[in-house]
Amino acid sequence: MSLYYDLHTHTYHSDGLLAPRELLREAQASGIRGIALTDHDVTSGLDEASRSARDFGVELIPGVELSVSWSGQTLHILGLRIEPGNPALQAGLARVQESRRLRARAMGERLARHGIEGAYEGALRHSRGIIVGRTHFARYLVEQGHAKDLRHAFTRYLRKGAHGYVATQWPGLDEAVTWIVAAGGLAVIAHPARYHLTAGALRRLIDEFKAAGGLGIEVVSGSHSPEDVERFALLAQEYALLASAGSDYHGPGETRTAVGRLAALPSGCVPVWSAWTA
Ligand code: AMP
Ligand code: MN
Ligand code: MN
Ligand code: MN
Repeated sequence: MSLYYDLHTHTYHSDGLLAPRELLREAQASGIRGIALTDHDVTSGLDEASRSARDFGVELIPGVELSVSWSGQTLHILGLRIEPGNPALQAGLARVQESRRLRARAMGERLARHGIEGAYEGALRHSRGIIVGRTHFARYLVEQGHAKDLRHAFTRYLRKGAHGYVATQWPGLDEAVTWIVAAGGLAVIAHPARYHLTAGALRRLIDEFKAAGGLGIEVVSGSHSPEDVERFALLAQEYALLASAGSDYHGPGETRTAVGRLAALPSGCVPVWSAWTA
């Protein structure tokens, strides 16, 4: 068995396609040692995931991926090895879940003003959990023939500045890291290359993240190029951050990287799992 983890995955409890049990079955087939289930802003999939993990002999790391507003943009912060029942974490998540419901209604209204009817109801229909997100709108837009695939739905309707986009005030970086730490978890900056930050902004982000109690950064990610991996491996070493690896798997056909099928962390990185396997 591999000594490796995939620490970033989704199920239909947020915007993935699979049930937790189906995700764990795929993880087992990949030969990976363990996975973190990190659904967006919700922990409702973790019970089924941990039962299935026992059945399939895969280690489950309970996790979450928090939406955060920082310096005028949205970032994602992963919480790994969280205690899902923690009241501070759940109070924070309840607030984000409510923001998502309000945003979804506003997105539906904006899309209707641009000639797309029924998007709010359609997105809710595609959402199987308590979270509604842009991916659910994207699936509705594709289903109705407004876009040929998810990527086009985002570029035409859902990316920042597009007709269906509604800006949302997510929790601050400091707040999100505090909830994760309160829940006994380890905070990790998700897919850092996705934010296209300047070198200065990236350094400011890492300084603020570490000051808040953050400990890790994703170096290997389904959305990172080999150059991104090298770059963030060096940055992790320079800042003494633990290096994480995650596919960001959302389901068959929706992401390039399948669950558990990840490139190795570059040598010199301290893997985030050394925090619990050492
Ligand atoms: P939300 O958190 O509701 O704003 O939605 C963000 C999610 O949308 C991400 O976690 C991805 O799963 C998905 N997403 C963002 N950009 C794209 C894109 N260009 N193509 C496909 N999916 C995307
Ligand atoms: Mn997603
Ligand atoms: Mn993300
Ligand atoms: Mn993700």
